[in-house]
Amino acid sequence: MTKLYGAIEAGGTKFVCAVSDENLNILKRVKIPTTVPAETMAEVFKFFDENPVVAMGIGSFGPIDVNRSSDTYGYITTTPKKGWANYNFLGDMKAHYDIPYVWTTDVNVAAYGELKKGSAQGKNSCIYLTVGTGVGGGGVVNGQLLEGFGHPEMGHIIMRRHPEDTYQGNCPYHHDCLEGLCAGPAVEGRAGGIKAFDIPKDAKDWEIEAYYLAQACVDYTVILSPEKIIFGGGVSKQDQLFPMIRKSFAEQMNGYLKTPDLDDYIVHVALGDDAGITGCLLLAQEEAAKN
Ligand code: ADP
Ligand code: ZN
Repeated sequence: MTKLYGAIEAGGTKFVCAVSDENLNILKRVKIPTTVPAETMAEVFKFFDENPVVAMGIGSFGPIDVNRSSDTYGYITTTPKKGWANYNFLGDMKAHYDIPYVWTTDVNVAAYGELKKGSAQGKNSCIYLTVGTGVGGGGVVNGQLLEGFGHPEMGHIIMRRHPEDTYQGNCPYHHDCLEGLCAGPAVEGRAGGIKAFDIPKDAKDWEIEAYYLAQACVDYTVILSPEKIIFGGGVSKQDQLFPMIRKSFAEQMNGYLKTPDLDDYIVHVALGDDAGITGCLLLAQEEAAKN
C-alpha cells in the first residue's frame, strides 16, 4: 500500500487539509471554515480518520509556539481569534494520530514549498511574504526553516514613513509597522474604505504601498541576504505593484549592495494557493524519512 502524507494549512479564515501520495500528488483536499477549535478540529479529525497518513506537516496562523523546549510548544499562543488563544494544536493532533509531525508557521511552509517546487527552486534560501488580511513573513535559510527562540514576525518591522502618507497605521501594537501600513485593511483604510481591488491601478496608493514593501525587502535583504523574495496574499495580486516595488527597492538600496537581478529577485508566488500545502507535504515526507 502506498504511504500517504498529510498537510494542514491552518489559516484564520479557513483550514486546508490535504493528503498526497509518495510523489506528492494531492489525492484529496478539503477546506474547513475556521470557527472555534471544537468545531473546526472535529472536521480535521474526520478528514484524517478517513485518510490515514504516515506523517504530517502543519503550517499554522499565529503567533504559535515553535520552541521545542517550551511548555507550550505546539500551541497557538496569543491570537485575538476567539477560542484559539492557548490552543494546544499539535498536542491535540498527537492525541489523535501518533505519527511524526512538522510544526511551523503558515508562511514558513509556503517558503519551503516555493523553495523546493516553486519560484526559488534550486536555491538554498528565500523569504515568503504574504500581504493579505495581515502581513506575515517566513523563510528558509540553508535549506532550514527560519526559526529562533520563536518564529519570525516579519510583518511587524517598524517603517520609515512615505513622506506623503498621512494614514496613521492600524496595527494595535505598533501603529505604523509594515502590517499596520500595508495589509489589505490598511490599504482600504488609507483609501477611505474603498475595497483594495477597486482602487485604480494608477492611484498614488499603490506607489505608497510599493514604497513600504520595497523598504521591507531592503531590510530583509541586508539582514538575511535571501536568494529570492516571494510575495503572496490577496494584495500582491495587484500585478502593477511588482515593477514599482523593484524600482523603489533600487532607489532605497541606493547602490549599497549588488543584488540578484530584481526581476528575478522580487517575484510573485509561483505555486499560488498551493505553496503552503506543498511545503507541508514536503516537510511531512522528509520527517517520515527521518523516522
Ligand atoms: P488572508 O490573508 O485572510 O488569508 P487574502 O490573502 O486574500 O486572505 O487577503 C485578504 C485581503 O487582501 C483583504 O484585505 C482584501 O481586500 C485584499 N485583497 C484580496 N484580493 C485582492 C486583490 N485582487 N487586489 C487587492 N487586494 C486584494
Ligand atoms: Zn505591528
